[in-house]
Amino acid sequence: MTAVTKAGVQGETLGTGLHIDNLSKVFSTRSGSVVALQDTSLQTDQGSLLALLGPSGCGKSTILRMLAGLEQPTSGTIRVDGRTPEDLRAYNELGIAFQDSALLPWRSVYKNIRLPFEVAGVKVDDDYIAELIALVGLTGFEKAKPAQLSGGMRQRVSIARALVLRPSVLLLDEPFGALDDMTRQKLNLELMRILAAKPATTLLVTHGITEAIFLADQVAVMSPRPGRVKEIIDIDLPRPRTPDIQRSPEFHAYVDHASDLLFGAGGAAAEDD
Ligand code: ADP
Ligand code: MG
Repeated sequence: MTAVTKAGVQGETLGTGLHIDNLSKVFSTRSGSVVALQDTSLQTDQGSLLALLGPSGCGKSTILRMLAGLEQPTSGTIRVDGRTPEDLRAYNELGIAFQDSALLPWRSVYKNIRLPFEVAGVKVDDDYIAELIALVGLTGFEKAKPAQLSGGMRQRVSIARALVLRPSVLLLDEPFGALDDMTRQKLNLELMRILAAKPATTLLVTHGITEAIFLADQVAVMSPRPGRVKEIIDIDLPRPRTPDIQRSPEFHAYVDHASDLLFGAGGAAAEDD
């Protein structure tokens, strides 16, 4: 229970894990207002992975942006291990990686991963950077610039950078969404291995059904805009998981169930993307 004793939390009655209660977000635009998210509640255990699965525009990124403190909720509350998003940010407890790896093109792999130390103004831990570079399989590429890397390698840099300050919360917004299917499957396996080594309460946004089920402890299936959680599916598959699990009847049953929720039972054939 280290997290409850970390800075930013007083007392231990606040609970651990992620608690999102009745979260709504309305954007005001010139042509009126857009209800991006309506009364969404989610709860997940500390150290587990929750996948947000839903159609484009249902408010998945908005949830992540509110968790990151980049948007304010219109109503509702967010707490992680008892802390607000502002606390999490202030104590460098958030790691974020998005679809676009957002690396600084003029900086090497090593210097991109080092960046959060500089931004936070804390002492650079070179040993930990080296450990993460090894963990994401980029040893030997420390001096390479982003343009010299493949898309998959750039996402690995982005994930290492997200983890470098040892965050308790990891926010991943379609991290592999722009990659080809084979690379994506490979990186899913790597992500699982990385999270086993560096556990964090993780929120993964995806529109890939199999990806969500393969990686997650829970999958929150969302409705089209205005986004709401239709159902939270507990993924009761053993760990460590290997790709073969995707051929098991249990896995297929989860895929069918999630597809029914997304597309309606007997509706369009389930597409992973
Ligand atoms: P998702 O990530 O599920 O595809 P988003 O969270 O990005 O969806 O967006 C949800 C809805 O909110 C969309 O209709 C989007 O157009 C709208 N939206 C998101 N950000 C803004 C903004 N800053 N201003 C106005 N509308 C926005
Ligand atoms: Mg999005």
